[in-house]
Amino acid sequence: MTGYMAQPSTPTPVADALGRPLQSLRVSVTDRCNLRCRYCMPEEEYVWLPRQSILSYEETERLVRVFGGLGVAKVRITGGEPLLRRDLVELVAALGANPSITDLALTTNGLLLSRHAGPLREAGLGRITVSLDTLRPERFQEFARGGRLADVMAGLDALGEAGFAGSKLNVVVVRGFNDDEIVPLLEFGRVRGLEVRFIEYMDVGGATRWSPDDVVPRAEMLARLGTHFGSWEPVPEPGDRAPAERFTLPDGTVFGIVASTTEPFCRTCGRSRLTADGMWLRCLYADAGTDLKKYVREGATDEELADVIAEAWRGRSDRGAEERLAVPNRGPLYRLERLRRDPHREMHTRGG
Ligand code: SAM
Ligand code: SF4
Ligand code: SF4
Repeated sequence: MTGYMAQPSTPTPVADALGRPLQSLRVSVTDRCNLRCRYCMPEEEYVWLPRQSILSYEETERLVRVFGGLGVAKVRITGGEPLLRRDLVELVAALGANPSITDLALTTNGLLLSRHAGPLREAGLGRITVSLDTLRPERFQEFARGGRLADVMAGLDALGEAGFAGSKLNVVVVRGFNDDEIVPLLEFGRVRGLEVRFIEYMDVGGATRWSPDDVVPRAEMLARLGTHFGSWEPVPEPGDRAPAERFTLPDGTVFGIVASTTEPFCRTCGRSRLTADGMWLRCLYADAGTDLKKYVREGATDEELADVIAEAWRGRSDRGAEERLAVPNRGPLYRLERLRRDPHREMHTRGG
């Protein structure tokens, strides 16, 4: 180890080739999942990351500390399904103790949340987002091909009891599947005090059945919600780099729309992703990334890791979703053979 240490105060983030600061990191802790959502894992079989390649919590915590020293202040734990990873509270406690990380969040499908919410909160987790696409039990089974909606509901109950505030619901809207539920889902969020974020169906790796016809554009969602709830107002968020645009209903309810497919927001994107085996991807659509595990396991110092990360970020010019807009006759991003050749291209491996 050298004298390199993460700074206790927030450092000035490294900027990429388009001036976008390295600000937020999604940390996938597993590529395994207990659901098979049709927009994410529609296939019958998958190529999994080898177990010995998965970073230990010490390795993950160390990498996050180096990222923190370069400007990352927001960390979201994801997967696969992160609650499948054993002793996740240990990682949460370690990341929660890092003074550079001011926003520590987790995204989960909620199935195992009822038993984990309390310990995660005690370990220092700040916020939780639960993915929920339908309020109908049979539809849930059909679309996620497993799990029980009742368990997700129990998980949502546990959020408040554990003391989590500001929890969100992620809803991927797929035409002909759940677009008839955007109003009930927003009502549900309103009653439960959960901010709903409607996400346009994206043609990311893993979405091998994606078709433009299945996307419900932001403008259509807003029109339909406006018809039911009355006129909405955009929430002004100067300087905000979050992907969700937020809106207020006449009664004050706030909801968000992530228009990654029809109106992408690459120009302000400071997000990158670390897979469970240490592959660092600087765009959700990137074909390949930097294998940070290799550097860690070959004995790189913190300073050397920081140099590798900073140099790669300075060279970043990715605008994946914007570039996809220009593709004629757009279909799925990858054919199955290409996905199977490198599982890092899967959404459930790189984290949502
Ligand atoms: N398993 C956890 C969950 O579902 O919340 C965390 C990982 S999941 C990959 C993270 C997010 O990605 C989820 O909110 C999911 O709905 C979203 N997602 C997956 N595939 C998507 C797609 N094709 N288009 C849009 N969002 C997608
Ligand atoms: Fe569904 Fe999340 Fe699992 Fe993907 S990783 S199949 S979105 S629960
Ligand atoms: Fe950021 Fe890439 Fe997503 Fe654009 S496509 S918002 S650059 S992660």
